[in-house]
Amino acid sequence: MAADLEMNEIHWLMDMFNTVDVGLVVLDRDYKVCVWNGFMENHSGLLPSAVKDKDLFDLFPAIDEKWFRSKSESVFVLKNRSFTIWEQQPYIFRFKNYRPITGKADYMYQNATFIPLTNTMGEVSHICIILYDVTDVAVNKKELEELNKKLEQVSQTDSLTQLANRGHWEGTLRQEFLRVKRSGGCSTLLMFDIDHFKKINDEYGHSCGDESLRHLSNLLRTTLRETDVAGRYGGEEFAVTLLDTDKEGAFVFAERLRVLIETNPVKYKHFEITMTVSIGLAGSSNDFKNHERWIEAADKALYQSKNTGRNKVIAYEDIKNDA
Ligand code: GH3
Ligand code: MG
Ligand code: MG
Repeated sequence: MAADLEMNEIHWLMDMFNTVDVGLVVLDRDYKVCVWNGFMENHSGLLPSAVKDKDLFDLFPAIDEKWFRSKSESVFVLKNRSFTIWEQQPYIFRFKNYRPITGKADYMYQNATFIPLTNTMGEVSHICIILYDVTDVAVNKKELEELNKKLEQVSQTDSLTQLANRGHWEGTLRQEFLRVKRSGGCSTLLMFDIDHFKKINDEYGHSCGDESLRHLSNLLRTTLRETDVAGRYGGEEFAVTLLDTDKEGAFVFAERLRVLIETNPVKYKHFEITMTVSIGLAGSSNDFKNHERWIEAADKALYQSKNTGRNKVIAYEDIKNDA
């Protein structure tokens, strides 16, 4: 009777061992496979008889052998458990991911626990690896990270022009202000405002005004270097931080931008509408207490250019002693 029960229990254990939804592998001291459960068989396509007594690294050349050995050695030697998580190493065994909901992942993400198995002498002669399929968790986390990245991007971008919005642009200017202060370099702030923009709205309608802002932003984008940061400062006012650019360089850039806008009218319905902009420049200076003073200086130059005829470039350095 007792023997029957024992036989049953072994039978049950074997059933559980083969149907449990985690991988179970036992390796000997030479990394030969001793035990291989149903989970491992199903995902690898290899029967226990095909892997028994075979070298793990011959069976799975994709395993990072050096890493795997050093992980296992500490289990053999120190008799401690050891863990691996997908964030450090996405998987140990390269199993295809077949889960329908998480079909976005090509391979099964895995966490694993390495446990020491002692023999009757108390020596660790084998180790057991418990393998968990964490594809759902990993994919969710990655999707969340992607979503957060997109949200961050959206929160920094002006939706009409796809340029940096005011808040984000001002943050980058502040960083630049502090950077040039430390390094003693020179960067130039350029601000410009569309001339008589109200007239475009009044004559052709608001959506033509919107199209004009988009058109102008596209022109601006074509002239930028990778390090320049352009933003929509207000309604029809824009700002560009020109990194490591002195007054002369900034003038060249500003003139090129001014002419580009003047010579590339916006096409709206059957109309071609020419726009011009007034530009103000201000080089970084230790005289500015903070980045807000720097903006004020560029703004002053911009309004000087408005007041003296529009469609021109004026630098703060040339007017600061006036008035
Ligand atoms: P100035 O040469 O002195 O700059 O004249 P202006 O007409 O450009 O300046 P003003 O400040 O009088 O008018 C700016 C206009 O820009 C008023 C506002 O309705 C319009 N505007 C601001 N933001 C937008 C927008 O997102 N879309 C459209 N269509 N118009 C906008
Ligand atoms: Mg204007
Ligand atoms: Mg304005």
